[in-house]
Amino acid sequence: MSTSAAAPPPLQAILSAIANAKPRPGRPAARLLAVSKTRGAEAVAALAVQGQRAFGENYVQEALPKIAALRALGLEWHLIGHLQSNKAREAAQAFDWVQSVDRPKLVEALARHRPPEAGPLNVLVQVNIDDEASKSGCRPQDVPALAQAIAAQPALRLRGLMAIPAPDPDMARRRAAFRAMSALFDTLAARHPGVDTLSMGMSEDYLDAIAEGATMVRIGSALFGPRPPKQEKPA
Ligand SMILES: *Cc1c(COP(=O)(O)O)cnc(C)c1O
Repeated sequence: MSTSAAAPPPLQAILSAIANAKPRPGRPAARLLAVSKTRGAEAVAALAVQGQRAFGENYVQEALPKIAALRALGLEWHLIGHLQSNKAREAAQAFDWVQSVDRPKLVEALARHRPPEAGPLNVLVQVNIDDEASKSGCRPQDVPALAQAIAAQPALRLRGLMAIPAPDPDMARRRAAFRAMSALFDTLAARHPGVDTLSMGMSEDYLDAIAEGATMVRIGSALFGPRPPKQEKPA
């Protein structure tokens, strides 16, 4: 039944789907962030030789050895998972982007620990747009103050917004969340000239996200295959 030998590699197929997607008027073509959580350094290197440069990781501890092992490739690393304040120093040293900034304490900690020789750390404000259950992301009304705090830090560079809408099976409701993010992004970009990135959309909904205004989509399983189920912690 499988005809995978004839199918293009997922990276090329996804890149052409992104290239063929019609962006929202006024938005640049979307960039692909390859989400490499749970994947080994070899899997990342295999995509890197095909030309993929930007990779996303959820956990600082899992990412550090991969980043170190692949340093010679000059890849761009994005932290997309919830960041605890006590990991801010390592995150500020190892990553090029942190997409999960959602509180003032993190802004200060990342700025304090960013090594000057590394240049400013690119930062997205994570917004909890509709997921009541999630403890990550600031409220939409908190975005202006948080953005102001980031913009005031020379060690940080405010680039935009990130969101993980609730995985609602009703795509119309997911699209409404993407649309709300897009409006927030437009307001932010009007106030902050360096803002150019709206990170939203994953394997299942990235084309909808682009249609609503995403400039960066974060794709894991559609690129690398299904993730292994989460390990139960030993009792
Ligand atoms: C895991 C993850 C993704 C990728 O999810 P897929 O459904 O595998 O594409 C994107 N963004 C965040 C924040 C994630 O944690």
